[in-house]
Amino acid sequence: MKSVLGATMASGLAHSAEPGGRKLGWALVGLGNLSTHQIAPALLKTKHARLAAVVTGTPEKGVAWRGKYGLTAEQIYDYGNFDKIANDPAVDVVCVVLPNSMHHEFTIRAAKAGKHVYCEKPMAVSAKECREMIVACEAAKVKLGVAYRCQFEPHHKEAMRFSREKVFGDLRHIDAGFGFKSGDPKQWRLRAALAGGGALMDVGIYALQACRYLTGEEPAEITAVETKIDKVKFAEVDETIQWAMKFPSGKTANCLTTYSFNGCNHFTAFCEKGRFGLNQAYGYGGQSGWTSDEKIPLEHPHTDHFAEQMDIFSQAILQQRNFGPSGHEGLKDLLVIEAIYRSIKTGKAQAVEAI
Ligand code: NAD
Repeated sequence: MKSVLGATMASGLAHSAEPGGRKLGWALVGLGNLSTHQIAPALLKTKHARLAAVVTGTPEKGVAWRGKYGLTAEQIYDYGNFDKIANDPAVDVVCVVLPNSMHHEFTIRAAKAGKHVYCEKPMAVSAKECREMIVACEAAKVKLGVAYRCQFEPHHKEAMRFSREKVFGDLRHIDAGFGFKSGDPKQWRLRAALAGGGALMDVGIYALQACRYLTGEEPAEITAVETKIDKVKFAEVDETIQWAMKFPSGKTANCLTTYSFNGCNHFTAFCEKGRFGLNQAYGYGGQSGWTSDEKIPLEHPHTDHFAEQMDIFSQAILQQRNFGPSGHEGLKDLLVIEAIYRSIKTGKAQAVEAI
């Protein structure tokens, strides 16, 4: 069954309900760290979205969330009865916040339930899965967004403008990296079956994204090497990867991702006439920007990345507009990630498969 919004949009009355626009109901699937500490609190600030249900495999969490967020027993689903969400007209969007390899299944089940889907990064663990998710959402006529929050963050947006408008001349090279020292050896992020990969899938994807949206191009050729110091802890997934990208215009990028040490969280864009960059580039605690010209600062107030992205996705649904980081954007990253892994395996430069 379609959500109320789906029915309303289908009958062409999407803009007539409330002048301010009603808040869309979001259901969170997976109540781990991100849902608990970032997404749910952000849903208390959003203008166009509100928490309408949760999906959890842990009944005690359901009880706790009912108390904290005033949900009813009917608004708590588990992974088994999740498909009944189709009958809940208060839920418009399903937000998939599960281990990476579960994104595919729950995105497709949500689409079949007639719900729009907002999926955490990485969109899935293979390009094949991404394609299937896109097809399922298109077939169900629901939107699919990927949670690339940096694309809405003011420093990143300004950096994109610097590049697009050639404020420092033509962009020639990017140096980007994101990593941290991984903790608990038992976590799902170190299990290939759940994570699909290591640092690259988890955080390297942010550096990759930055290179793609700063150049405005898709990389044509990838060369990558992997380093593994702790072969026991990282037996199943990558620990540190360095990769280089060549873009069709001749722009280049060098990137690093790691689970081996802290402090790597930046990009520098080298242009014909100057440079700009971000430190603390990809976290949600606040960015720190700089440029080579003190008259052109890269400074903005801190924003709530999660509230911002959920409001923008909700507005795209309400106003029947395109949403930038759609499933295709998630797919493009997985195609590059697969080329990176192929390059590590073969020891040779790899082309990126076409979308
Ligand atoms: P987490 O481990 O804290 O939470 C995962 C949730 O999935 C838990 O509630 C767990 O109970 C549930 N789960 C269901 N089946 C599971 C299984 N078989 N094994 C393990 N857990 C299972 O993880 P998280 O940090 O909340 O990450 C969830 C997703 O969000 C990931 O895809 C991650 O990449 C993404 N994420 C995005 C950001 C961001 O800034 N956008 C930040 C952190 C995580």
